[in-house]
Amino acid sequence: MQLLIDIYNILLTNYKSQGWWPVTEENSHIPQYFVKIATEKQILEIIFGSILTQNTSWKNVETVIEQLNKKSLIDIDKILKMNHEELAKIIKSSGYYNEKTKKLKEVCKFLKQNSIYELSNYDMDSLRQELLNVKGIGPETADSIILYAFKKPKFVIDAYTRRILTRIGIADKKSSYDELQSMFENSLDKDMNIYNEYHALIVEHAKRYCRKKPLCGTCILSHLCEKKI
Ligand code: SF4
Repeated sequence: MQLLIDIYNILLTNYKSQGWWPVTEENSHIPQYFVKIATEKQILEIIFGSILTQNTSWKNVETVIEQLNKKSLIDIDKILKMNHEELAKIIKSSGYYNEKTKKLKEVCKFLKQNSIYELSNYDMDSLRQELLNVKGIGPETADSIILYAFKKPKFVIDAYTRRILTRIGIADKKSSYDELQSMFENSLDKDMNIYNEYHALIVEHAKRYCRKKPLCGTCILSHLCEKKI
């Protein structure tokens, strides 16, 4: 669909590259943008971040990642050994902390049995299936992990994507996750960098203009949007 390519070009021209996924460099505790992922610890941090960011803003997650870094808890064994209450307390500001504590432990159990190195050699469909089998990981989290942690081309659909596509008029509230994902994947080159950038740009657009109460008057996509609000 040419419209999705046009939207990407407009967003990229206006907002520039977003440098996702923010991750922590060695000798720091705070995740930064535009970091080249080089270590298994950074991959694990993205996996944790994908779970922690469920139903909350990145700002809240950033604080939690900083705490986890300070306590050297971006570590599978340490998370598995910690008791529930202790971990829940540390991740509290990400919201839904009891559920997320269970999910972090589940994903660590999974990663104990399937190393990050092994998983990185899986083909994308097998990796997705494995991730979806982990309790607490749904399609959006699995695809975030595939795209941002394992650098494989899977387009991530989140609430912002659905909101913007519905308002523009190329999706509706009944469109399924898979339908929206196929729409992007069939329209764009199968390129991890484009999928990465596009999703980050959508989030930026939702923050700047296509908010719950949208700022259509000054929106850079206004000329091609049906504004189905
Ligand atoms: S014109 Fe309004 S509804 Fe359409 S994308 Fe922009 S802010 Fe969202």
